[in-house]
Amino acid sequence: MKPARFVVGLTGGIGTGKSTALAEFSRRGASVVSLDEIARAQARPGGEGWKAIVRAFGRGVLDETGGVDRRALGARVFRDAEALRRLERATHPAILREMDKRTARLSGVVVVDVPLLFEKGLERRFDATALVACRPAEQRRRVRRRDRLSAAAAARRIRAQWPLRRKRALADFTLDNDGSRKALNAQVRRLHAGLSLLYGGTPNGNADENP
Ligand code: ADP
Repeated sequence: MKPARFVVGLTGGIGTGKSTALAEFSRRGASVVSLDEIARAQARPGGEGWKAIVRAFGRGVLDETGGVDRRALGARVFRDAEALRRLERATHPAILREMDKRTARLSGVVVVDVPLLFEKGLERRFDATALVACRPAEQRRRVRRRDRLSAAAAARRIRAQWPLRRKRALADFTLDNDGSRKALNAQVRRLHAGLSLLYGGTPNGNADENP
């Protein structure tokens, strides 16, 4: 019997093209789950993440509307490793619970966008991991352009994560995003087609035995 679903953890480095690849997986018919989106939803006023953040940091991290001041909190945890750990301890468990809840409802190929998959040792939660990687110079260029950052600020954000070569050594699949978006999308299509053949999730009698 095929399993009901095959869950791929999709990661990258900041700006390597993870969101771009996720969108193509979705267009190809994969079910997609975004941890960023779950985190943002839970951090809305009154949400589980919001409550956890207020418990951990006090109301001083809220803006005038009562929402989490993401910029201020981001700047604080970027400077202070202990504060970052506190934020992660407060918010990650509920995010992962919601991820499990959502993936359990889906079938076939499911792709979850996980920004710090390897840094947080989450690989065992997935049936396979896929990495979107590009050359460091290209990564710096894309981060600078997308986030309107100075060269130094972009380099700092990139350095805060594991180097891509360390992630390459761990990923089951690597999508190289040094060329055009079209070239990245073609790799996504090939990977999705391959996984769908094995784990399409449409039960079909004996033909599905021993995939
Ligand atoms: P991530 O989600 O990994 O941070 P994104 O998918 O947002 O990365 O890509 C980073 C930026 O680079 C975005 O502005 C995106 O549109 C752009 N980008 C991604 N892939 C390519 C590509 N192959 N060619 C040109 N620009 C790209």
